[in-house]
Amino acid sequence: MMKPEIAIIGAGLAGVALATRLAPHAEITLVEKSRGLGGRMATRRGESAGFDHGAQYFTIRHPAFHDFLEPAMERGVVEVWDAPLHRLNAAAKLEKLEDRSPRFVANPGMNALVRFFAEPHKPRLNTKIVGVEGKPGHWGLRTEDDQRLGPFAWIVSTAPAPQTADLLPLAPDDAAAVRSVEMHGCFTLMIALGEASSLPFSAAQVEHPVIGWIGANHSKPERASTPALVVHARNDWSQEHLEAPLPWVEAQMMQALATLLPDLADLIAATPVLHRWKYASTATPLGSPFLLDPNRHLAACGDWCIGNRVEAAFQSADALAASLLTQLEIEP
Ligand SMILES: Cc1cc2nc3c(=O)[nH]c(=O)nc-3n(C[C@H](O)[C@H](O)[C@H](O)COP(=O)(O)OP(=O)(O)OC[C@H]3O[C@@H](n4cnc5c(N)ncnc54)[C@H](O)[C@@H]3O)c2cc1C
Repeated sequence: MMKPEIAIIGAGLAGVALATRLAPHAEITLVEKSRGLGGRMATRRGESAGFDHGAQYFTIRHPAFHDFLEPAMERGVVEVWDAPLHRLNAAAKLEKLEDRSPRFVANPGMNALVRFFAEPHKPRLNTKIVGVEGKPGHWGLRTEDDQRLGPFAWIVSTAPAPQTADLLPLAPDDAAAVRSVEMHGCFTLMIALGEASSLPFSAAQVEHPVIGWIGANHSKPERASTPALVVHARNDWSQEHLEAPLPWVEAQMMQALATLLPDLADLIAATPVLHRWKYASTATPLGSPFLLDPNRHLAACGDWCIGNRVEAAFQSADALAASLLTQLEIEP
């Protein structure tokens, strides 16, 4: 029997988890608009230091996620980040937090996890999808550079909710449900420090009106030893200032950091780099694990269906895979 052709838009964790689950039963075309893999599990290499500038770590609470990750764990791609977690308050008071569950990271950067699972599916990078054409069961994808891909029996979008709503020709009720998902942005500052720099903590949740997180990237396993800080602004503050000029945002974040880490200015070795995440976290989720329209042969999954964590992205993709296989009359 011919395997159905399924296109998956987006090679973040949800996209590669879905591809992994469906690949034994379907021909998968995995397309990603960026030139690298990872989505919001992102890693950037600076001149001397590396930065995980999206997800900092992930937790593994569900056995299915653990089972999925096992091959990556066996290859050393997933490892515990055992640095103690601190809380830093606006008065620069530091307090060690009790660890509730282990924090895992991918090696040598967070994007390595997505790369590990993506490679067997030969993802098409630099391929931004701008339109879905045709009809159910014979869908085509139009790329930004006006190529046509397809035909596909099914199309699944794993892009953040607002982008999925723009892309898929959904039924009106589904379109309204996806549009009702609210996602917040996040500003991230990447700061390389001098070789001998030391900080009083490796990972800190920050209680401050502007800053929400400070992590020492070099304290994660298998990273370059050059001290490197990843600083996330709070999601609510980021969302409020999402369209503000970037130099202003950076100045506000640096000013806030100066009160939280008074010695920081003397340690900075290179010009900080600011990244703006337009859709970082889910404020209001879809409320169901995935979206599937059996008549239109369209589906969507991603963290935004149920939450805002790496594990939520997996759970959403895993649940959609089971449902899609049932639709295709294949035992999950
Ligand atoms: C700053 C920040 C900090 C975070 N911290 C944590 C944390 O500490 N712990 C945690 O568990 N989670 C964290 N998260 C959340 C976590 O990163 C996400 O939940 C998870 O990575 C989402 O995976 P996904 O596959 O659903 O979506 P994404 O990773 O967003 O993947 C979607 C993919 O679709 C691609 N795409 C979009 N539109 C198109 C198109 N038109 N054509 C082709 N491709 C397209 C995108 O480029 C992207 O690669 C953080 C996120 C951010 C941004």
